[in-house]
Formats: sequence, C-alpha cells, structure tokens
Amino acid sequence: MYDVIIIGGGPAGLTAGIYAIRAALKAVLVEKGLPGGQVAITKGVENYPGFIDISGFDLSDKFLQHARWYGLEIVQQEAVAVEPGIDFHSVRLENGEVLNAYSIIMAAGGKPRRLNVPGEIDNFGKGVSYCATCDGFFFRDQIVCVVGGGDTALEDALYLAKITERVYLIHRRDEFRASRILQQRVFLEPKIEIILNTVVTEIKSGEQGVRAVALRNTQTSEQRELEVDGVFIFVGFSPNSVLAPIGVKTSTTGYVLTDDKCETDIPGIFAAGDLRQNYAKQIVIAASEGCIAALAAARYVEAKKPQAKHAAVQPEPADASR
Ligand code: NAP
Repeated sequence: MYDVIIIGGGPAGLTAGIYAIRAALKAVLVEKGLPGGQVAITKGVENYPGFIDISGFDLSDKFLQHARWYGLEIVQQEAVAVEPGIDFHSVRLENGEVLNAYSIIMAAGGKPRRLNVPGEIDNFGKGVSYCATCDGFFFRDQIVCVVGGGDTALEDALYLAKITERVYLIHRRDEFRASRILQQRVFLEPKIEIILNTVVTEIKSGEQGVRAVALRNTQTSEQRELEVDGVFIFVGFSPNSVLAPIGVKTSTTGYVLTDDKCETDIPGIFAAGDLRQNYAKQIVIAASEGCIAALAAARYVEAKKPQAKHAAVQPEPADASR
C-alpha cells in the first residue's frame, strides 16, 4: 500500500515524486519507457528558468537524478488502468500486478498528433517522423519538409536547417502560432523556405521510402507535388488521458479537467502536466503542476489516514550549503 502512485516520468511526474517524498509520502512512480517524457527528445530548452540553453535530455536527466537522490521508487511498467475505490485507489500494470494507494497522480503527458493523410503510416520510419532530434541525423544534406506552425514545428525546423540541405516549412494558415522569437529566427534562416496557406494531402513513396508530398493551397485550391526525402510532422499534441477512469471529466479534446489543486472529480485522483487542461504546455508548467498535485495529495493522504504521523523528512542535501 502506497500513499501515492504517480503515473508518468516526465517533468510533472518526477517533480511530483520529489515533492511527495519531501512530504514524507510513500510514493512510487510508474513509467513504461525511460523516465524523461517528451522533454528528453527535445533538442534544446531555452526557457526553463536557471538554464539559458540546455538539451532536453540533460534537463530531464537532472529531474530524474534529483528524484532518485530522494530515493523515489520507479517501476518500469505500463499502467493499463486506474481503478478508483472508496478507501483507496488502484493502478493495474501491464504485467498483471495491481498497486494500491490512497492517492494517484496521473502525469502521463501526451503524444504527437497525426496528420491523417494517405502515406503517413506506411512511411513511418521510412521518411515520416515526429521527432527531429531522434531522426534528423538520417537526413543529413537531404531535403525535408516540416508540417505545422506551432513552437515545435518552428523549433524543429531550425534544428533541421542545421543538418539538412533545405527545409520547407508548410503551414495551413498565413500566420504562425509559434512564439515571436522563433518566428524571427525562422525568417532569418536562409535554409528554411516557408510555404503558407498550404496543406499536405498525401505523402508519396518511392523505392527507398518518402519521395514527395502532395500539396494543396487552401486559398487557390491549386495542387502540386514537392519532392522531399523526409516529412517531419508537428501538428500538435494529444493527451494520454485514456487512463482517466469514468468519473474523471475531460475536455472535448481529451484533456483532464481538475480544480486548482490539480484534483479531478474523484477525490484523491490528481492530474498534472501535459494531459491536464491548462493554459499552456510548458516544462515549467508541468513541473509546477507536479508540485501542486503532490502537495495536495499529501494533504489528502493526511486526512485519509489521520493516525499517521507525518514526520517531516529532511534528507541531507548533497551540498549542505544549499
Ligand atoms: P500547437 O501549438 O498546438 O501547434 C500545432 C500546429 O499544427 C498549429 O500551427 C496548427 O495550425 C497546426 N495543425 C494542427 N492540425 C493540423 C493539420 N491537421 N494539418 C496541418 N496543420 C495542423 O502544437 P505544438 O507546436 O506541438 O506545441 C504544443 C504545446 O507545447 C504548445 O503549448 C507550445 O507552446 C508548447 N511548446 C513549447 C515550446 C517552447 O516553449 N520551447 C516548444 C515546443 C512546444 P493552426 O495554427 O492553424 O491551428
């Protein structure tokens, strides 16, 4: 029996783990892959306070080391169901094991959205990618296109411009939703050619994988083909909220709805980070929601088992001067 089970090992989950241990909770974090989440596959992070420029992998590794330093138990398993109860809640794991706890923090993040055009699935891994940091290397000196107009698309277009011969940045509207600073950098990058008011209608295959994309101009309906070796798709994000049990409300787009303590409609079940309905998807926000959820879970657990004496844990810091 745990005090809290945290599902997901990204910034929200790891921060929740740090705060849970510091609140003297018996905590376990369940993560199906390697801890780190989407951040671990992000090239550079320039907006996490305290780090002017750090690779996503290094930042997520720092979160992980910090959580491990506090002794957070991490179970590498996929959580397949969250089962609410009255006295306690349960998380069912893929190996059939069931973990019980007074509280659960769902922090499973999300995954890249698909474009849903012909040729996309067939060419996945053969020229179609959702991760520039992971796959950019394979397109050295080749021609690629990036689809999307958000922060991810522009950030990754800039990254790909350093590796590839040419990057076509294809966006369905005439203005980007990405931050101004990224837009300015993209406009100044000679290797990036911007194609606006245009959608990709098909990804065409050759013998080696992707050969071209079929494009349609949304203003003129003109159609054309653009030869590319790779297609990087960054058209948003879907929350991994499938584990949210009946009784937990979600938005029409699938994000988990909570109160300002990150608590869902089921007492003791919390949500933090990219799967939660919030104002913006940022690492710093995911981390702060992990903190809020853990503090609120600690308060909930305390009320649930009033006999427990929560001696404040004061682990010896690695550097006692901090
Ligand atoms: P996003 O902000 O939701 O942008 C998705 C982009 O894809 C939009 O430009 C959208 O066009 C376009 N799009 C959506 N569906 C499409 C379709 N079917 N066909 C063509 N285009 C389509 O997603 P994101 O860029 O992945 O960012 C997700 C969140 O993470 C955001 O809150 C973002 O700020 C944050 N983020 C932050 C950073 C950073 O601060 N360094 C880095 C990465 C991500 P429309 O504009 O026309 O809707």
